[in-house]
Amino acid sequence: MVLHKNYKIATIGSHSALQILKGAHDEGFSTIAICLKGREKPYKLFKVADEIITINDYDELMKIQDKLIKKNVIFIPHASLITYLGVDAVEKFKVPYYGNKNILRHEADRNIERTWLKNSKLKVPKIFNNPKDIDRAVIVKFHGAKGGKGYFLAKSEKDLKQKIKNFPEEDYVIQEYIDGVPMFIHYFYSPLTDELEIMGFDIRYESNVDSLGRVSARDQMALPKIDPSYVIVGNIPVVIRESFLPRIIQMGENVIKESKKIVKGGLWGPFCLEVILTPNEEIRVFEISARIVAGTNPYVDGSPYTALKYNEPMSTGRRIAREIKTAIKKGQLNKILG
Ligand code: AMP
Repeated sequence: MVLHKNYKIATIGSHSALQILKGAHDEGFSTIAICLKGREKPYKLFKVADEIITINDYDELMKIQDKLIKKNVIFIPHASLITYLGVDAVEKFKVPYYGNKNILRHEADRNIERTWLKNSKLKVPKIFNNPKDIDRAVIVKFHGAKGGKGYFLAKSEKDLKQKIKNFPEEDYVIQEYIDGVPMFIHYFYSPLTDELEIMGFDIRYESNVDSLGRVSARDQMALPKIDPSYVIVGNIPVVIRESFLPRIIQMGENVIKESKKIVKGGLWGPFCLEVILTPNEEIRVFEISARIVAGTNPYVDGSPYTALKYNEPMSTGRRIAREIKTAIKKGQLNKILG
């Protein structure tokens, strides 16, 4: 009797679900995609889901919990779950859940997140709580479901007050603008083996900021409607200069070590540090995602880094399923469900 065949892997049909469900199949699990009405097609087309459960809105997920528990589901969270359900609801979610729910509040609260990163000895951008203090280029970021839409740059209090008029009553943060290239580091930490892995890197393709170089500076000045925006539309695989790796591994280890001081069990599974690499070769961290990121999606068949470690295709989705399978075999599911 193969024990893990008794379990089903389920996730919300969006974000990185194709990769998660394919990875679960590769490890021998049967799979469920829970889709908003009208969003089922990709999961049918690519045949990654053995079953599709359609819901009318994300709140309905709370109503089908008992049904999922009866099916012996292990639920894999990704950003869509947290964004649309919210931390409160996810904390109440009764279905066995891969990852540590206790860490969610630490990531959701900007101040706690910042302290966590700082205590991990990472260099974070300066935050300006009072616009009067702005003494350098800043990026003004809005929170909520809009993603990077409307983020703008400002150089002074006056400049900020002028530009913010277009966004009344928004919740925003004023962050030092770091000159350099953004890069997204995909890690995986296993509490079963106490090992940190580098799964890969990506750069994001953001509209319209990544196409502004196609418009000459002269035209940008002449066409007043062209303002930068940071709406993510895709992810591009990238390999980092090898000499950055020692620091990058150390950064991941520090984050894990620090997370264990913050909450019982700390952070485990996939996570991502969002960084800017500066012309001085500094690594500045502007965000952490404590779960699978969509930047791992280009690596359904593994990345150059997983190819070094595994002699088989190993996506982050598959790595999660492998971890669950190992935990089931060892009778240690309690170590990875939170
Ligand atoms: P975020 O919503 O924090 O993930 O940021 C969206 C995008 O804004 C990033 O992918 C970067 O392109 C850019 N960005 C965010 N924070 C900074 C920063 N402090 N300095 C420069 N660019 C940033």
